[in-house]
Order: sequence, then structure tokens, then C-alpha cells
Amino acid sequence: MTHRQPSDDFKSSLAWTSDEPMGLIIDRAEGPFLYLADGARMIDLISGIAVSSIGHRHPAVLSAIRAQLDRHLHVMVYGEFVQEAQAGFAADLTSVLPAGLDSVYFTMTGTEANEGALKLAKKATGRHRMVAFHNSYHGDTHGSLSVTGRSVYRDPFLPLLPDVTFLPFGNAEMLDAIDEQTACVITEPIQGEGGIIVPSSKWHQALRARCSEVGALLIFDEIQTGFGRTGSLFAFEQFGVVPDIITLAKAMGGGMPLGAFVSSREIMGTFRNDPPLAHVTTFGGHPVSCAAARATLGVLQAESLPERARWIAEQVCMRLRHDSIEEIRGRGAMLGMSLSDAAFTERVVSRCRDNGVLLGWTLHSNNLVRIAPPLNISEEVLHEALDIIVAALDEG
Ligand code: PLP
Repeated sequence: MTHRQPSDDFKSSLAWTSDEPMGLIIDRAEGPFLYLADGARMIDLISGIAVSSIGHRHPAVLSAIRAQLDRHLHVMVYGEFVQEAQAGFAADLTSVLPAGLDSVYFTMTGTEANEGALKLAKKATGRHRMVAFHNSYHGDTHGSLSVTGRSVYRDPFLPLLPDVTFLPFGNAEMLDAIDEQTACVITEPIQGEGGIIVPSSKWHQALRARCSEVGALLIFDEIQTGFGRTGSLFAFEQFGVVPDIITLAKAMGGGMPLGAFVSSREIMGTFRNDPPLAHVTTFGGHPVSCAAARATLGVLQAESLPERARWIAEQVCMRLRHDSIEEIRGRGAMLGMSLSDAAFTERVVSRCRDNGVLLGWTLHSNNLVRIAPPLNISEEVLHEALDIIVAALDEG
């Protein structure tokens, strides 16, 4: 079964982001499953790109959304009115972050969170130079794209922000390029779209030390790695370092759009004046999204889902032992299976799709299969999916 018959409306009225969209026609989604219009059931092993970490339409999220719908939707631009869902979730979030990450600014999306973080770093340091890493991905608005380390995505949109230096990811010897003129260094603690690259704790610690030494703010983009995906609530916990600013989105809203950048009260305070309203957003921290996020964080904690992510890694590595796999890398349920070449990878992904398992690529690589299931996927469903992957690999 091919499942790919994009409707006339999809073809004629919706802007496409590639010449070959997946085009699956979604009827509904529940837990780890997508149900298509032709009646097929697909096991979702990409979670809407690291969004549906507690599965689709978790009952706790639905009931929090319903309760908020009965109270209010948007009432005012960000930061003026006291909205219980927003302030309550900010308190919940800071309670699971270390001291120094205690002031939350909500956005709608990940890229907006990074935009806010970059502006905040400039404002707080009075500097404008930025350092980022090769093969990073931070989003597609102009600021985020300026610190995204892949020229194929950047070049068509030049000029971008000036004075951005790219360093090799994970290489401690190059960190001297971070200097007293540097406002910030932005990095994913584990690169996602760059191909699931896990750097060493030593590198993280050297990076932290260099930033502290020269007064540059360290921004961790945990938009993909956050909320249990890598086996701890936030990936930085595994490397023994704490950033000055963390950016969040994706899984935070439990399927609703929500982003945030979080820093200290002192650093965030620099946004209050010169000028006042130095950074505003209409919809950031939408109350329905915040209500959903409160419920999501509750589920992640109550069901120990970061731990469950580590269990998923064990199951995947145990079952996917196959001659045609070069490597399985990553942490927790943020895994990449690298195969010999792009054509074989394409065949495996499309066979799996035809047999009811949704897999995908990462943005910067074409021979790495992304495996990122909902963290609460059952053992039975996970193994059903892994069996289908093994069968697709067996076909060669
Ligand atoms: N940062 C990282 C690490 C991401 O993986 C992504 C999206 O994939 C973004 C930023 C951008 O987030 P959004 O698509 O919500 O703007």
C-alpha cells in the first residue's frame, strides 16, 4: 500500500516545502499511532520530529486543554496580564531547572525561542559577535538561520547576521576562537538535524569553561533534546554543565505550539528597559498551549519517561543488530541508524512506510534513519515496529 495520494487542496492551495512531500493523508492520531484516511495504521517512530514524546492526544493533555478552553483563549499580548496557565507553567518549568535558569520567556516556536535568546545575549553583554557550530540547526528565521551551520541552507539567503563564527562541533582545541568580543555561543547539546551527534562531556565542560572565562553567554538549544527525549529531562544534565540560556519547544507543549527561552532573572531583566518592551510577542505562551504543557510535564515526571527513553535505546540497540547497519548512535530515544548509502536508506524508509512504520531522515544527512518514538510506546508496539525495520533491512 502506498498511502500517498495528496488531495487537490493540498496540491493547489498549500505551499510545499519540497517537490516530494510525504503526503500521508492523516485522519486521526492516538498514542503511538497515526491513522490514515485509507484506514491504515502507522506506528509513529518520529513523533512529529521529537514533538509527541508522550504520544498523540494524551488524555491528560486533552483534559487540560478542555479545561482551559472553558476559561479563556488569548486575552492580551505576552507579559501584561496574569494568566494562571502561563505563570503556573513557568513556575513548574523553573522548578525542574537549576538555579540560574529561573526566568521564562514564552514564544510560539523553537526558532522564535532562539531569536529571543540571541537578542537577549546581545542585550545582556553589550556585544554582538556570535559563535555557533558546523552542521548545527537552529531554525529558519533570519537570526536562527544565521547561526545554523550548513551553507547549503544559508547561502541562498545571504546576507544574514554579520560576525558569526562557526567552529567544528565537539573539537575542544578550537574553543579559543571564543573571545572577549563574543556575546554568545549557541549549540545543541546533541546535534539533531546534523545527524544525531553526541559530543563528549569533556568538550561540553571545556566549552562552559571558555564561555565563563571570556564572559560569553552559553546558549543550549534543547528544542529537540529537551523533555526526556535523550534519557534525562534535559540533555545538559548528562554532561555536567549548565548553560546561561536554554531554549525549548517541540515536546514541551504535548502537541500544542509552545517555545521558551529561559535564563536568570538578572540576565532576563535586561529586556525590561532601553527600550521598554525590547522584545514582545502577541501569541507567545498561549494559555491553551501552557495548560497542555503543564499536563505534559506532569506526565513526563509521573511516568518516569526520561528513564523510559533509556530503555528504548536498549531495546533498539538489541533488536537492530544487522549486517547492513553501520552504526546506531544517539542517546535515549533520539537515535540515528546509519546505513551504507542514500539509495538503500530511501528503500528501507519507504518499505517501512508501506508496512506501517513511519521513519525519517535528519535534515543534514541522507543515510541516517531517525528513530525517535513517543517515550511511552509500549514494548509490544516498539517490537512490532523494530521487526518491520529488520524485515526492510533483510530485503537489502
Ligand atoms: N532548534 C533545533 C535543535 C531544532 O531541531 C529545531 C527544529 O527542528 C528548531 C530549533 C526550530 O524549531 P521550530 O521548527 O519550532 O521553529
